[in-house]
Amino acid sequence: MASETKNTFALEKQYVLQTYARAPFVLDHGQGCWLYDTEGRAYLDCAAGIAVNALGHADPELVATLVEQAGKLWHVSNLFHTAPHARLAQQLCDTSFADRVFFANSGAEANEGAFKFARKWAHDHFGADKSAIVAFTGAFHGRTFGALAATPREKYQAPFRPLLPGVRIAPFNDLEGTAAVMGDDVCAVIVEPVQGEGGIHPATPEFLQGLRALCDRHHALLIFDEIQCGLGRTGYLWAHQGYGITPDLLTAAKPLAGGLPMGAILMTQQVAEVMHVGEHGSTFAAGPLVAAVAEKVVRRVADPAFLADVRAKGEYLMERIEELNSPHITEVRGRGLMIGVDLDIAAADVIAAGHRHGLILINAGTNTLRLVPPLIISRGEIDLLVERLRAVLAEL
Ligand SMILES: *Cc1c(COP(=O)(O)O)cnc(C)c1O
Repeated sequence: MASETKNTFALEKQYVLQTYARAPFVLDHGQGCWLYDTEGRAYLDCAAGIAVNALGHADPELVATLVEQAGKLWHVSNLFHTAPHARLAQQLCDTSFADRVFFANSGAEANEGAFKFARKWAHDHFGADKSAIVAFTGAFHGRTFGALAATPREKYQAPFRPLLPGVRIAPFNDLEGTAAVMGDDVCAVIVEPVQGEGGIHPATPEFLQGLRALCDRHHALLIFDEIQCGLGRTGYLWAHQGYGITPDLLTAAKPLAGGLPMGAILMTQQVAEVMHVGEHGSTFAAGPLVAAVAEKVVRRVADPAFLADVRAKGEYLMERIEELNSPHITEVRGRGLMIGVDLDIAAADVIAAGHRHGLILINAGTNTLRLVPPLIISRGEIDLLVERLRAVLAEL
């Protein structure tokens, strides 16, 4: 093992807070859908940094944009105007239901902002008692206190109680169960149109349409968390497009700046109107460096031909996985290039074996493999992914 590899393991083990179970190699560089470690081994990337690197690694246009902007201006704070940030906001509104955008630096932070805007909207129009938030079983909205309260996993929540009060959990894809916890004291309902961390579970069209109706009946805002499923992942720019309804707020993050940290809250004018100067803010958000890169990502990903290609490749990958006919696979589901593969064995074992076969895989729950490769993956690379997965499953 190279001394650089050993050194990195040793330093991480001694100095970094031990909250992550990292893969047993050190990544050094990447190109397209490929990652290379410090021992010179190549891996086909089927994780994209957790559904982040939509355009893969070292994309020439993103690199050129970054380098050019880095030589001009990195950061000035939101006390000043910069052009990339304003243009990016226009792009996001032009390609969605939204009238205005607020930028953040991560997914959790975008959801925190959405909760604050929903509470402010309810305070202004109905008074302070309308403050409850409804979220769902299996949801993941982030690790900060508000987002964590809407992420009903004991392991994540238990050590940190008390969480943000006023969050109710309803059963996902169950309208009757949701209606039972709705009331006029609810200011917002937050849902992932396709649940990611919870195991790749798409919401049914009837469920999303029913939530829209429930929110309208109770004068509550509907928030779509498209942090993982948005921005082309499902083969639609926004995962809810095609369901015939729109939310009042939408949160985006993971792929937004192609791997640089950035989040966004998209909203209608009726929500935007309640927020005034000084009521919310961020030091770093939408600085010219990340915003310039995000503009390029959004332009490429929003191209109808690019999205059609994601849909076609997603169908192809799904078919090829079904053809594997592995006795270990119990179900395959998903939308576009967001695919969950349920296994009768631990996903962790498949992931570890995948490393030996040159595959970077991630899970979504104990028994579900999550395939979220860069959206630029080629059909040849999909074939290779499936062949390597076949070898991995045969070995276990
Ligand atoms: C990853 C994720 C988040 C949290 O994003 P961070 O950038 O890790 O804070 C929130 N919601 C969904 C659906 C996610 O997938």
